Amino acid sequence: ASGDEKELRAPICCILGHVDAGKTKLLDCIRGTHVQEREAGGITQQIGATYLPAENIRDRTSLKAETAIKVPGLLVIDTPGHESFSKMRSRGLSMCDVAVVVVDITKGLEKQTVESLHLLRRHNVSFIVALNKVDRLYGWKECTNAPIVEALKKQSDDVKSEYKWRLTKVVTDFKENGFNTAPYYENNKKKKVVNIAPTSAESGEGVPDLLLLLVRWLPDIITDKLAYDDTVECTVLEVNEHKDLGTTVDVVLINGVLRQGDQVIVCTKQGPVTTIIRDLLTPHPMKELKAKGAYKHHKEVRAGQGVKIVARTCKEGIYVQASSVGTLEAIIAHLKSSSVDIPVYAWNLGPVYKQDVMKASAMLKRKEEYAVILAFDVKVMPEASALAAESGLKIITADTVYRLVNIYTEHIKGLKE
Ligand code: GDP
Ligand code: MG
Repeated sequence: ASGDEKELRAPICCILGHVDAGKTKLLDCIRGTHVQEREAGGITQQIGATYLPAENIRDRTSLKAETAIKVPGLLVIDTPGHESFSKMRSRGLSMCDVAVVVVDITKGLEKQTVESLHLLRRHNVSFIVALNKVDRLYGWKECTNAPIVEALKKQSDDVKSEYKWRLTKVVTDFKENGFNTAPYYENNKKKKVVNIAPTSAESGEGVPDLLLLLVRWLPDIITDKLAYDDTVECTVLEVNEHKDLGTTVDVVLINGVLRQGDQVIVCTKQGPVTTIIRDLLTPHPMKELKAKGAYKHHKEVRAGQGVKIVARTCKEGIYVQASSVGTLEAIIAHLKSSSVDIPVYAWNLGPVYKQDVMKASAMLKRKEEYAVILAFDVKVMPEASALAAESGLKIITADTVYRLVNIYTEHIKGLKE
């Protein structure tokens, strides 16, 4: 590459389409994993992020070694397809550089496909159509992982003609929704006409073509958008309490670099929280951010990437749970008063649930005397009690603030003896 060529970051690609079109299966096929079979009812519940390094893409597409891939990799976001997730979908979309709209060739455009198209237009996101399940065409001859043009050549005339009319129908349906589309191998106006990449997530036909479009065609179309920039741009997917790691924040790093020791501000239900990045974890390449398993540790991570931030929650203190804002304020004021002086780490309103116990348990590793929930005038759920007993967290309940504090003080004395 010449010296003045811009450095590009990994494009962020979101997978959209009607439920059961094959979004998760397609991602599985690309990664060589089996997430789809493990999902409850086959429905994707969260947004997952997967990084595909350029070398893996090269292997999958049998690109010649001298053919340049201008991007370091591809970050793919799988969004939930179920109706009730449309908010989450639009959130997934707002951070994406490109979308793959998966359409089941045997069904054509369905309700959520059309909804996705509206979202894409509103956010002005380029997209590629994966016309999936071509192996369902009657009499399809399987050509595992073959480029689609090769696979089509091997098919009988009947299959070819069914393919042709189904494709024509889909192109017409897109036209009715205001989009010009064409199969990518016949598309001469790649900037104006949306590419259709026929695929099978089952046997892999056309999947190399789809990957090539994403790493070769796309960077030419949106070069400026993909130019690497030092300004950190980041979207939070989820905040979790991990039993060993403490507070973790799953993010998509769209631009810039995150480093250990950086200060970050995260918006939470309890307001903005300032914290220091203790560690940066990524799943192994080709694995999902939300998948359990071993992580790689990093001193710094460069965009675009899905990252689990391990936060150093600066505060130490006890956990307070109360029935109303008024009582909560009174308790916190009392704890803070000079005669008592007990620091408060976090608080919540309403019954004590398992989540509260998990959050308060962060102190077990940091400072045992703060591994306590002071629960005032609230119920403690049985699962919460059970978890607390198991992990060694103390839950103190009482009907006056003074009694709460007294029991706590006795408890500390007990610990010290
Ligand atoms: P999603 O709801 O869009 O994520 O769809 P899934 O990936 O969960 O797939 C829905 C169903 O279609 C599953 O039973 C898949 O095994 C099946 N499926 C997905 N893609 C293909 C494909 O290309 N060919 C065939 N024959 N079945 C597929
Ligand atoms: Mg899915």
